[in-house]
Amino acid sequence: MTVQTVHFSRGIPPLDAIPSAAIAEHTSAVLAAEPDRVFQYAPIGRHTGDQELREQLGKFHSVDPDRVFVTNGSLQALDLLAAHELRDTVAPEVLVEAPTYDRAVQIFERHGAQVSGVPLRHDGLDLDVLRERLRTKVPAFVYVIPDFQNPSGVTTSEDKRRELVRLSAEYGFTILEDIPYRELRFSGTAPTPLGELAESTDGARVLTIGSLSKVLSPGLRVGYVIGPPGAPQALAALAESIYLSPAPLLQAVAARALANGLVQENLEHVRQLLRPRHDAAVEAVRQTLGEVHLCVPEGGYYISVHLPIRTDEESFLTSARNDGLALTRGSAFYPADSAPPSGTAFLRLPFQALDPEEFAEGVRRLAAAARRAA
Ligand code: PMP
Repeated sequence: MTVQTVHFSRGIPPLDAIPSAAIAEHTSAVLAAEPDRVFQYAPIGRHTGDQELREQLGKFHSVDPDRVFVTNGSLQALDLLAAHELRDTVAPEVLVEAPTYDRAVQIFERHGAQVSGVPLRHDGLDLDVLRERLRTKVPAFVYVIPDFQNPSGVTTSEDKRRELVRLSAEYGFTILEDIPYRELRFSGTAPTPLGELAESTDGARVLTIGSLSKVLSPGLRVGYVIGPPGAPQALAALAESIYLSPAPLLQAVAARALANGLVQENLEHVRQLLRPRHDAAVEAVRQTLGEVHLCVPEGGYYISVHLPIRTDEESFLTSARNDGLALTRGSAFYPADSAPPSGTAFLRLPFQALDPEEFAEGVRRLAAAARRAA
């Protein structure tokens, strides 16, 4: 009998979370209304993104559109910000949560940063460790994913957010706040965005990185930066020298989707779609694996565990694979100077694309693999 593999691997939106038919309609409407504009180069000169899209994103986040800068997906925002923020620093250091989003670490390293991990607790960065680090060296920036973090599911608490922003002002470092999952909250109340806290904290500097990938469509490749006044304009020349502008057609479609309420409508739908998957995932982990999870997430795509194992990670993953489990290597989410607590394997368990029975079956297989490795 062949065993169906359970995929605890990629964190991509399930197809039923992408309103393809409605996006197609908006695309047709854009093509009918302004083909000349969207098939021509965007106007050149300090390009910060499609004006209408920046206005819509400004409205969505209640900020002045002049503070919004549009990119091809938020990964490109990370790349541009890394290039810009690290440009004049010799041997720059960047601090990240450990674990964190692996692609971000690769980008920062590619721009010459020494990337160092600060342990992530159930409610955000370990601030005692951060303060100690800051006393030795002030980093070029600290990169955090404060809501339903990829890969752990952790949300940074209100207290920690306030203290992090205060430290940014005290020591003069920038915070990069990456928020692709922020709107996917299924329960509880949202803490204050770091960018908003910075507005009322003299000397603090926060650059917020947003994305339409998880709320509308990743294929549109619409990401953006919200920064203090002047920040988008400072990025414009660099962006223009690399790709002139993001694709006018895709930006116009995204702007129309926002203007017509499709994003808000889809968000409601995605929350309803994912909430039962989330609840079932939390229940399955609790019942089958016990209290090994880092936190109980209140939204997003991920729950994560630190499973006690005696074997090395590689043998554990091989044995799990033989049992029909596709897992992402947990150590890949840690920067080079960090690792999961000794004697444990870190595992990210994305629940967004699995139905409850499938997730529960995956967790049972995980428990069996863990027993063999204990
Ligand atoms: N940041 C984080 C934390 C992510 O999880 C992802 C996608 N999984 C991205 C950025 C990139 O998203 P995109 O480029 O599609 O906007």
